[in-house]
Amino acid sequence: MDKQSLFVQVANLEERIGELYVELGTLKQKIQDLIEENLRLQRENERFKEESLEGKTPLEPRSAQENLLRIYREGFHICNVKYGSLRTEGECLFCLSFIQKT
Ligand SMILES: [Zn+2]
Repeated sequence: MDKQSLFVQVANLEERIGELYVELGTLKQKIQDLIEENLRLQRENERFKEESLEGKTPLEPRSAQENLLRIYREGFHICNVKYGSLRTEGECLFCLSFIQKT
């Protein structure tokens, strides 16, 4: 095996490791984001539970439409196609038409 091709192989490997390292960093950031999102939802859930235990019904003062709109603005689908999942593709026409109907 000639030295030249060994050097090329090592250089290619180095490049791939570099790319994997960047990908790893991106994945770590995504995990971090998901953990934070999860914590936020847990806290919100706790708050709702506490409020309903205290006999308050936090959802009542708002109309159903306001609640749906709020959930939608927070980045979740409210349409029956993808209800409850994160909106990753921007505005959702199904959600928007659903808001208008209610
Ligand atoms: Zn939707």
